[in-house]
Amino acid sequence: MAMRLITSHIVDSRNCESLKNGVIPSEKKYYGHFSIAMYRGTAYGLSSAPGTSGSWGKPFLAKNNYWQSEFYRQRNARNGQAKAAPSDGAASPLKLQDKVSIQKLSEELSVASPLEILNHALSMFGKDIAIAFSGAEDVALIEYAQLTGRPFRVFSLDTGRLNPETYRFFAEVEKHYDIQIEYTFPDASEVEALVRQKGLFSFYEDGHQECCSIRKVRPLKKMLKGLKAWITGQRHDQSPGTRANVPVIQLDPSFEGIEGGIGSLVKWNPLANVSGADIWNFLRTMDVPVNTLHSQGYVSIGCEPCTRPVLPGQHEREGRWWWEDATAKECGLHKGNLTNIDSVSTSNVVGDQAEEVDLFTNKNINAFSQADIEKLNALDKRDKSGIVVLYAPWCPFCQAMGSAYNEVADQLEGSDVFVGKFRADGDNKVYSQSELQLKSFPTILFFPKSTKKAIKYPSERRDVGSLLAFVRALK
Ligand code: SF4
Repeated sequence: MAMRLITSHIVDSRNCESLKNGVIPSEKKYYGHFSIAMYRGTAYGLSSAPGTSGSWGKPFLAKNNYWQSEFYRQRNARNGQAKAAPSDGAASPLKLQDKVSIQKLSEELSVASPLEILNHALSMFGKDIAIAFSGAEDVALIEYAQLTGRPFRVFSLDTGRLNPETYRFFAEVEKHYDIQIEYTFPDASEVEALVRQKGLFSFYEDGHQECCSIRKVRPLKKMLKGLKAWITGQRHDQSPGTRANVPVIQLDPSFEGIEGGIGSLVKWNPLANVSGADIWNFLRTMDVPVNTLHSQGYVSIGCEPCTRPVLPGQHEREGRWWWEDATAKECGLHKGNLTNIDSVSTSNVVGDQAEEVDLFTNKNINAFSQADIEKLNALDKRDKSGIVVLYAPWCPFCQAMGSAYNEVADQLEGSDVFVGKFRADGDNKVYSQSELQLKSFPTILFFPKSTKKAIKYPSERRDVGSLLAFVRALK
């Protein structure tokens, strides 16, 4: 391997056998010297024989992230920006803007347990990191933090519109863990202006963004501006539309930290790969206090006017802002999860050639042209009922439902329900928005046999069972 040394610096004498295994040496054994080098974002160790210096052996991969952090600490120290070692629980020596480092760390920790991830986060950032606690099952983060034995901070956004049960739960958590939650509050003059002008429930009329922006996003922004990293309870299974690709660690795409600018804040999502069922098993096993709203059918918990219990089998996000479009249910706290569908390129350009892979290519799925779909949409009665997905091939949410939709088509083959697809981006978008209820991709429509109006699939669940249940309920 042709490795270019970015640094070659004798840092210490440690147990090289431990280093080779990627283990942080817990004791100093003077076997020799080693140096840390970085090559394409990966840390490598170079060891020398005991009692020698300058004659380096073969580089070996320093698997543990400690060495990557140590590299930056050494480099900063030489540049006159000495900081405490991460194991001291002080600020991270990681260069936050280094996307490659974050991605690499995220990959390395992608199979780690939440406990391991929390421990890593707290050891790297010490007092410069805090857990965002919503008052729901993300109390698991606090339990995990407690289990690490490290000091930790917790903050919550008090919007002024939470359920009484949630306030009581905050107090219970403070007592149980002997912590003080750092509450944030919205700016009083902004709330006053909104409520005086539009009333207390304007979000039911013109969407939740304005109210959330005042009561949640701005206070959050202020809080994060004093941190270098934050920890959230986001999980993939919370929202197939908006959280399906949340990594374990990322540079926050929306908010800035104490050092300023996008890229200055690290966002940790230790529960990203954990299912809701596993979180609840953990909470039960560890006898963790929970919000009493859960026993009333609430799964996801937010502000009182914008959260409702869900029915058995309903997705938890269907209990939030239920009057709005299913795929846009982010309040701004995690809006970086959302892909701006209008800004995504419609093709992957290779050289001058536009290369694009179509979706839903199953032989049992009919591809509709605009003329076909206009005709179908205009009919008062149809020979057969059918389901049609409005899609765009570049949309990651459409891509994610590809295999489920193909299987639905296979299962409905030969039945009295047809399965179709209509590419609704580009020139077809305006028509689809005005006539086919398109708000975001994918939109799934059921065209009944006996009535004219197409029925929009209302759920974010796009698995085979849910889609078939929708079809069977209407056909
Ligand atoms: Fe306002 Fe509802 Fe958002 Fe709470 S969740 S801040 S009440 S819009």
